[in-house]
Amino acid sequence: MEGVLVTGTARAGLEGECARCLEPISDDVEVRFQELFVYDDLDVDPDEELEVSTLQHDLVDLEPLLRDAVVLALPFQPLCQDDCPGLCVECGARLADDPDHGHGEPVDPRWEALSALAEPEQQDD
Ligand SMILES: [Zn+2]
Ligand SMILES: [Zn+2]
Repeated sequence: MEGVLVTGTARAGLEGECARCLEPISDDVEVRFQELFVYDDLDVDPDEELEVSTLQHDLVDLEPLLRDAVVLALPFQPLCQDDCPGLCVECGARLADDPDHGHGEPVDPRWEALSALAEPEQQDD
């Protein structure tokens, strides 16, 4: 009576990176949406106008509707895999690629100055 009810489904491809290891990931999302677009010649209270979608010269602008639906469907923290171990805190290596990754025993900070002495001297020439 007062407008056009739009119902639909949209598929979108997602590109992003894992929140833990920064690996690029891509995914698909499917969203459903429904919105009533009222005729723009209908007498709408200007205060209320922001709240409702209107037909623009018999056309429907789906962009805001699609954007809202897709944004709501996006994962808050996308992961490359559910149990992504993230990155090594010491060197930044991706732990999923190298699960046995290690750096040996951490040096006691009190002895750290000595380890510099143990390294071969650098030649300056
Ligand atoms: Zn990851
Ligand atoms: Zn490491």
